[in-house]
Amino acid sequence: MLTNRQLFLLHLGQTSSAPLMLEIEKAEGAFMYGPSGEKYLDLVSGVSVSNTGHRHPKVVEAIKNQVDSYLHLMVYGEMIQSPQVKYAERLASLLPEQLCSIYFVNSGSEAVEGALKLAKRYTGRSRIIYFTNSYHGSTHAALSVQGNEKYRNAFRPLIPDTVQIDFNDFSSLNRIDDHTACVIVEPIQAEAGVILPRTGYLELIRERCSKHGALLIFDEVQTGFGRTGTMFAINRYSVVPDILVLAKALGGGMPLGAFISSREIMSSLINNPQLGHITTFGGHPVCCAAGFASLEVIVEEKLAESCVQKSALFKKELNHPMIADIRGEGLLLAVQLRSPEHVQKVIANAPSHGLVLDYFLFCSDAFRIAPPLVISDDEIKYACRQLLSLLEDTI
Ligand code: PMP
Repeated sequence: MLTNRQLFLLHLGQTSSAPLMLEIEKAEGAFMYGPSGEKYLDLVSGVSVSNTGHRHPKVVEAIKNQVDSYLHLMVYGEMIQSPQVKYAERLASLLPEQLCSIYFVNSGSEAVEGALKLAKRYTGRSRIIYFTNSYHGSTHAALSVQGNEKYRNAFRPLIPDTVQIDFNDFSSLNRIDDHTACVIVEPIQAEAGVILPRTGYLELIRERCSKHGALLIFDEVQTGFGRTGTMFAINRYSVVPDILVLAKALGGGMPLGAFISSREIMSSLINNPQLGHITTFGGHPVCCAAGFASLEVIVEEKLAESCVQKSALFKKELNHPMIADIRGEGLLLAVQLRSPEHVQKVIANAPSHGLVLDYFLFCSDAFRIAPPLVISDDEIKYACRQLLSLLEDTI
C-alpha cells in the first residue's frame, strides 16, 4: 500500500520542486501535530490566515452551528443568508463609514478580480497602476498587476493597459492621471519581504487618485485582521481607499474573500450589464459564520493590540550574527539572513527543530515570521530558542 507521502506526489497537482511535505494530523492553537506525535510550532499561519490560531473553539462552534442550519443555498446575492448579513454588518462597523458595501467571494485573487472590474466599470477607464514586487494573486488579472516577472512571464498575454511603478518612489506617482481607472497597492508589501511605505507615500497616492478621479484599491489580504498591530493597515496610515480587498484571515480558517466599497461605487455592478460580477460560492454561509466568530475573537481578545508587544519580544529574543535584519510590523516579520542559500537551508531544517517556516515569493534572503496572533509569550520564547539553535545547526 502506498503511503500518503507517495500518494501526495502521485495524485496532487504539484507546483513546487521542493514542497514542505509535512504530514499533519491535527492542529490546535499555534501548534500542528504529525501522525507520530511530531509537534510543530506554526510560524506561518498558512500565510497569514490562522490569526485566531488553529481550531479556535468559538470558530469551531460557529461552523458546527451553521452546518446544522444550511450549507450552500443559491448563487451569491439572491437570498438573505444571515451569516453573510451579520458578518457584513460587523465588518462595516469596524471600517471607515464609506466602506460599507461588501461583496463576498472565495479567495484573495478573486477579490482582486472583483475590485479591478469594479474600478473599470465605475470610472469607465481601463488603466491600472500597480507596484514593483506587489503580489495580488495568481489568476490572470491578479498576475497582470504582479510586480515581478518571474511568476507571470510564461502566462502572457495578460490584461492590457497596466502600468508598473516603483514602490516608495514619490516621483513616479505622477503616472496617476486622468486615464487611470485605479491604483492597486498593498499598504505594507508582504511577499516583497515586508516593505513598509515611506512616510507620506500612501497619503500622496490617495491625493493623486482623488485629484484625477482614479479609484484607490488597498489589498489588505495579508495585513488585515490585526496582523500588523491594528485591525487593518488603514487604521495605521489613516488613508481610506475607495475599495478594500480582504481574504485569508477574513474566513477564520475557511475560504473567503471580499471587496468592499461605498454603496455608490458598488452599485455600478447592478446595471450595464446587470450582474456585473457573479459567484456561485462567494460568501458561503459556513465561511461567513467562521469569519464572524474569528473576528469577534480578535476584538474580544485584543489580538491586534497584543501583536505590538509580541513583535517586540521576537525582535528582542532573536539575536544572532547570521541575522542581518528583522523588519516588519506586528506579527508580519521578515528575518533577513546573509544569503538565499542560508534561507533555503533554514526553512528546510525547521521541522527537525519543531518549527514551520516559509519563504517570501520576492525576497530570497529572508524568511517569514507570521504566527497565529494567539501565540503566547512563552511560545514566542520557545520559538526563538528553537530558531537560534536551528541557525546554529544549519549555517
Ligand atoms: N493579495 C495578497 C497581498 C496576497 O498575499 C495574496 C496571497 N498570498 C493574494 C492577494 C491572493 O490570495 P489567494 O491566494 O487567496 O487568491
